[in-house]
Amino acid sequence: MARIISVANQKGGVSKTTTAVNFGANLKFNFGKRVLLVDIDPQGNLTDNLGFDIDGSNQPTIYEVLKDEYSISETILDYKGIDLVPADIALSSAEREFTQVGSEHRLKRVLQSIKENYDYIIIDCPPSLGMLTVNAFTVSDEIIIPVEAAYFSLKGLIKLSETIASVKEYTNDKLTIRGVLFTKYNKRFNISKEMKTTAGEISNVIGAEIFETFIRRTTIVDEAQAAGSDLINFQKASTAEDDYKAFTEEYLKKVGDLNGKW
Ligand code: ADP
Ligand code: MG
Repeated sequence: MARIISVANQKGGVSKTTTAVNFGANLKFNFGKRVLLVDIDPQGNLTDNLGFDIDGSNQPTIYEVLKDEYSISETILDYKGIDLVPADIALSSAEREFTQVGSEHRLKRVLQSIKENYDYIIIDCPPSLGMLTVNAFTVSDEIIIPVEAAYFSLKGLIKLSETIASVKEYTNDKLTIRGVLFTKYNKRFNISKEMKTTAGEISNVIGAEIFETFIRRTTIVDEAQAAGSDLINFQKASTAEDDYKAFTEEYLKKVGDLNGKW
């Protein structure tokens, strides 16, 4: 049975999509796990960043699945052995349309049928705390919160933790925050002092652990995205590639799923 993980933060540009892609790629290519990526951001960045151009095509997306027009398996695209449920701009009407009682459970209902085919299902959330994010939290076992190391907003994190608390109360009492992942880390930022203070503040406020691994900032992340590739399969090596591998190993250790052979 898959472990389901939301990558979430209502702030845009903090590396949610980059983390969903490269965490997923590491689980698959470096640790041999069966992975499904689910794009529930109407911007469709996850879909684009893996090289799928579905604009104007007949490709069904998560939107049609949530509306019960297609089954989820009919939407699945193959990225080098990773399964992907794509999204595009059509999903932007979901926030308006899915207002009936019980709409929080739509994603949970549709993932039910394919859950056992995977070890990990990773959901790339939109930069908001609306119905789509609530759907992701309702089906998830846990949340990973990427935070841009130098520009985090404590206020934003408080808001996020309030949303998580209300999902826990009403639709999913087993939901946990697995941890906060510092991203776009710049070497000039003094890691030992400022980061420790920052990490301390954050974990106090949202009651979550901070991953020891930080993801460093490098322009190769943008290059790989433009090429429609994850970092492992991109032709250039990068610090971020190493960091996402270390992060994935740290994660697997944490959840007790690091196989003997690694
Ligand atoms: P989000 O999904 O939270 O909006 P993205 O993952 O799309 O964030 O990242 C936002 C932008 O920052 C993208 O242009 C991406 O290429 C860039 N980016 C993400 N992580 C890094 C990194 N480690 N180093 C450099 N640029 C990064
Ligand atoms: Mg994104």
